[in-house]
Amino acid sequence: MAECIFCKIIKGDIPSAKVYEDDLVYAFLDISPINHGHALVIPKEHHESSATVPEETAGRMFRVASRVGVALKRKYDWDAFNLHLADGTAAGQVVNHVHLHVVPRGVEDGFRWNWRQLKYEDGQMAEIAGELAARVNADLAGK
Ligand code: AMP
Ligand code: ZN
Repeated sequence: MAECIFCKIIKGDIPSAKVYEDDLVYAFLDISPINHGHALVIPKEHHESSATVPEETAGRMFRVASRVGVALKRKYDWDAFNLHLADGTAAGQVVNHVHLHVVPRGVEDGFRWNWRQLKYEDGQMAEIAGELAARVNADLAGK
């Protein structure tokens, strides 16, 4: 995709603070970090959604993101890290080249996910799990 900003970063047409690169993925610092060191791991191939990323590339993204998180903890003494992926505009995706955020976290870093906790009605959980299981199993079985 010619206009994609992250494709341009991979090609070197737009500068980035590179953290890691291999045959499948590219990692660089987010320009507007939640905390300093906040990084993005992206596939070199353009995909808008995580759902179309080939399994090997998706695995590499997760592996590299985890190692970046560990490096952030060891080098800068962060306590923890979040891995975050927004898939779709309603989920907060702004750049349409799939990217895995690695957000270093500290006990007192002042940042909180706005994470609500709803409840299920009786039987609703089993119903949803069953319906989802049918879809996911058929999907992964290639039907
Ligand atoms: P999302 O909201 O999950 O789509 O996140 C997109 C992220 O890309 C944001 O956190 C931006 O700060 C980051 N971003 C956008 N342009 C650049 C850029 N040129 N270099 C580094 N990070 C960028
Ligand atoms: Zn792209």
